[in-house]
Amino acid sequence: MSPVVVVVEHLDGQVAKPTLELLTLARRVGDPVAVVFGAGADALAPGLGQYGAAQVLSVTDPALDDFLVAPKAEALAQICARLQPAAVLFTSTLEGKEIAARLAVKLGSGLITDATDLAATDGVVTTTQSVFAGNWTVRATVSTGAPVVTVKANATAPEPAPVEATVEQVEVSISDAAKTARIVSSEPKKESGRPELTEAAIVVSGGRGTGGDFSEVEGLADALGAAVGASRAAVDSGWYPHSYQVGQTGKTVSPQLYVAAGISGAIQHRAGMQTSKAIVAVNKDPEAPIFALADLGVVGDLHTVLPAVTAEVQAR
Ligand code: FAD
Repeated sequence: MSPVVVVVEHLDGQVAKPTLELLTLARRVGDPVAVVFGAGADALAPGLGQYGAAQVLSVTDPALDDFLVAPKAEALAQICARLQPAAVLFTSTLEGKEIAARLAVKLGSGLITDATDLAATDGVVTTTQSVFAGNWTVRATVSTGAPVVTVKANATAPEPAPVEATVEQVEVSISDAAKTARIVSSEPKKESGRPELTEAAIVVSGGRGTGGDFSEVEGLADALGAAVGASRAAVDSGWYPHSYQVGQTGKTVSPQLYVAAGISGAIQHRAGMQTSKAIVAVNKDPEAPIFALADLGVVGDLHTVLPAVTAEVQAR
């Protein structure tokens, strides 16, 4: 089978869960080749091998750490020229999308963003996307060159397929033209102790119905080991940081369970959460549009319902 390049996201010696999902999808269309930027490929390789990456390419040019995305796109273009992959896969993060777009231009091929599935028929890679606020499902192929695809976190469950992973150090040559935007400093986000919103298996979101008090939303999130999200009405009111906004102009999440508390279910909010596997809505208005989408609807005051559910979960 043809190689499929998977760009690895890693932090503090850990492979991010969406990368394991990419490896799982990559195996459907070819043989995954994991590309690790920066130090640590040796330590990461066994974990990548667990999910089917027999080949791990380690790229450690200092320009990759010192500059924004352009050197990574250049390095990947050189790797693709050598491997002639069937596809190149990224997680749908802001950085992933930017590198993917630059790479697609360099390869003269097509870019598909926010895919939720991949398949191969007669060697042609087909992607699935949910578009127009989730109202349409699109299957697409790229007609020229290797498709460059970004895939939404939680698109699939990671499935192990253990192989022995060998690490190869790859030398790349980064041009001066790619060394334009230098990273001056970077600081880790303050730890909330909760999972990252776009990667979490469970998300509990609050809206205007919280009245500005997110403690009950956070309480349930912590009882469930979930991430916290918010509607735009809540973040625009200054009740929760913008980086937690779910929706068309916020983050797209696709967890196993999404709890919408005091959220009406406007189409722009739905655009960011409607591919969740199970949706639970808590709303005091029985006519709220969110109930049309919910697998389980609770008509009630969130200030009563959330603490009761939290206590129940904690008691188990
Ligand atoms: P509301 O619509 O006001 O709903 C509040 C709900 O809480 C109501 O259903 C009410 O019955 C319920 N409620 C009130 N009190 C309680 C209680 N005590 N217990 C239980 N339920 C209660 N929105 C987003 O969320 N994300 C986006 O990315 C986004 N992008 C947008 C982009 C554009 C271009 C535009 C025009 C809008 C966008 N919006 C977005 C805004 C969107 O249209 C809605 O205004 C917003 O989602 C509403 O947020 P909400 O559901 O919290 O508030």
